[in-house]
Amino acid sequence: MYDYLIVGAGLFGSVCAYELNKKGYTCLVIDKRNTIAGNIYTKNEDNIIVHEYGAHIFHTSDEKIWNYINQFSKFNNYIHKVKANYQNKLYSLPFNFYTFKEIWDDVYDEKSIINKINDDKVEFKEIDNLEKKAISLVGKKVYETLIKGYTQKQWGRECSKLPPFIIERIPVRYTCDDRYFNDKYQGVPIGGYTPIIEKMLEGIDVRLNCDFIKEKEPLMSECKNIIYTGQIDEFFDYKYGKLEYRTLKFEKKKLNVDFYQNYSVINFTDYNVPYTRIIEHKHFDNCLCNDTIITYEFPDKWENGKEPFYPINDSKNNNLYLKYKNEAKNYNNLIFGGRLGEYKYYDMDDVIKSALNLVSNIAKK
Ligand code: FAD
Repeated sequence: MYDYLIVGAGLFGSVCAYELNKKGYTCLVIDKRNTIAGNIYTKNEDNIIVHEYGAHIFHTSDEKIWNYINQFSKFNNYIHKVKANYQNKLYSLPFNFYTFKEIWDDVYDEKSIINKINDDKVEFKEIDNLEKKAISLVGKKVYETLIKGYTQKQWGRECSKLPPFIIERIPVRYTCDDRYFNDKYQGVPIGGYTPIIEKMLEGIDVRLNCDFIKEKEPLMSECKNIIYTGQIDEFFDYKYGKLEYRTLKFEKKKLNVDFYQNYSVINFTDYNVPYTRIIEHKHFDNCLCNDTIITYEFPDKWENGKEPFYPINDSKNNNLYLKYKNEAKNYNNLIFGGRLGEYKYYDMDDVIKSALNLVSNIAKK
């Protein structure tokens, strides 16, 4: 008998396994994929570290979490910078002095930018959709150029049919700070993320190609407790209904050129371009090789069999999730965690924090 069956060899499951193992609990980690590391899986392809499930940059302002992850790998000093491409002109992101200069040539300081935005804003009596919300915050020009098409592709619906809560606020910087994340610590692990997870799982039993849903009975008979990082609604056989997600399709290409684009990530904000992003993996670790690998990202509707990348946290889905969360309270040896188990968009630093809290609570008990 294992003390813990950990379903999912992603970051959440692996931090739990590492910490529980250190405290003397026996663990079995399973994953239905044929790889460890979940969505932070990276692969070395001809010396290029490829982020197979989208660009992953570690960023946090929490020194404890930064020190924690650094015990498993050295990080480079990569600073994430992203550009938007709209009709073949590049714009700086997130919105900062350069962005506004690229949109309106005659702005030169904070006041002139605010004046331009104010002239372009529309006051609506009622803000009942995303389009109105965005226009009321940054005006029509910025909305049309940088928000409209991208958001529509991302969500598969026109902005005028999307709820306004999707954009709580639009961060605007009037300085020339064009870092995508302004956390105190950021970087990409040298050699990629998979070696980090390999280290965490060293000496722990791992079974890949093993789907909990298909092998429930035998697996449960082998373990006293379960930490489940898969979809909570699937675990309960969708008894209250299906939670909704958005997914992504990735199309990877190897090209015989030194570099394809100037940045690791370029967002395509024109609706007529079918993909939302192109990632060029070489930029993450300054790899010195003659070829390059790029990945196109296409947002897509999620259905069974596709990867559930983004939970859709509107009130309908959040209420449904609460039903499953309450159901889980009936089981005293079952814990849900991570992005799918908690139906929550978690960055890597949040995942680590949450997994460390979980294990510390287990140890206290
Ligand atoms: P996952 O990585 O999804 O792991 C869950 C694992 O459970 C998977 O391997 C899955 O196969 C397995 N599983 C599910 N069901 C079963 C089952 N029934 N049986 C067996 N195994 C099962 N975070 C950042 O901090 N910085 C970034 O730049 C960043 N970029 C991102 C880009 C994209 C496109 C996406 C989607 C996410 C990004 N994130 C980023 C978030 C980051 O990926 C997550 O924080 C992290 O991967 C979550 O780890 P997890 O273990 O909770 O989930």
